[in-house]
Amino acid sequence: MSLLPGVAPAPVERRPYPTARGLDGEARTILFDAAKCIGCRQCVEACKDWHDLPRGETYRIGATTWLTVEPPVPEGMARIWGRNSCMHCDHPSCAAVCPVEAITKLDEGPVVIVQSACIGCQYCVHACPWHVIAINPVTGRAIKCTMCHDRLGQGAVPFCVRICPVDALHFGPGAEMEARADTLAGEGGGSVYGRREAGGTRVLHVLVGSAAAHGLPAVGSGRYPVHRIPWSTTLRGLLTLTGGPRGKWRAIQSAWRKPWRLKYRYWPR
Ligand code: SF4
Ligand code: SF4
Ligand code: SF4
Repeated sequence: MSLLPGVAPAPVERRPYPTARGLDGEARTILFDAAKCIGCRQCVEACKDWHDLPRGETYRIGATTWLTVEPPVPEGMARIWGRNSCMHCDHPSCAAVCPVEAITKLDEGPVVIVQSACIGCQYCVHACPWHVIAINPVTGRAIKCTMCHDRLGQGAVPFCVRICPVDALHFGPGAEMEARADTLAGEGGGSVYGRREAGGTRVLHVLVGSAAAHGLPAVGSGRYPVHRIPWSTTLRGLLTLTGGPRGKWRAIQSAWRKPWRLKYRYWPR
């Protein structure tokens, strides 16, 4: 009930995943300016450093590489560079399909996989339009960029942003980053990617060419884009004890309490 006479309370959107507030609730955004990027990949190495991930693989997203710079060629070998990592969607498909609600959307922007809750079913891997989730071969759990939410809690910016030597990465309140992206795109005759894709994201790219030229997929503006979870993955999830008896029990409990969540997994719109 609204306290103001004649004013209806704002509808509280029912979200198919857990949400949380870590700080002040203001959504933050990473801004990548492709016009400035020189493809040095210091951001890629910085990500590994902060998250204590082994070096070695640099060019492909995986359990130990949460951020890549596209195309997968050495510095100096491309004219246009792109950033490939989690987009921290405002309406994350990965979280909507998770049978045990292991993925949380923070009001401040980050979409975070809670490692201790993941049962390794791989639904999120297939539901992500950007294909940036990997399965850790050691733990069997899903893993990806966290937007350095631990650093945000200390008042710091994501480590990739902190390290970029040419100011190609920025971080701040969403509205401020949107305005900066528009200005940069206007000055350089480019375009902004990430504002409308999948219903909006917390990573904006200022592009100088087509999305494909930057290694980015074409993703529609609707929330929770249609995904293709292979039948083999679905059947394994339904018919086997994925994640062990306790994982299966948690999935059954979630489906029992919130059956409306199932449509995001089995009947993607
Ligand atoms: S980009 Fe993929 S992994 Fe990241 S929040 Fe969106 S759906 Fe999830
Ligand atoms: S692998 Fe399965 S349980 Fe783990 S986060 Fe992804 S959808 Fe959730
Ligand atoms: S550190 Fe900056 S310039 Fe280097 S690849 Fe990353 S975004 Fe581009």
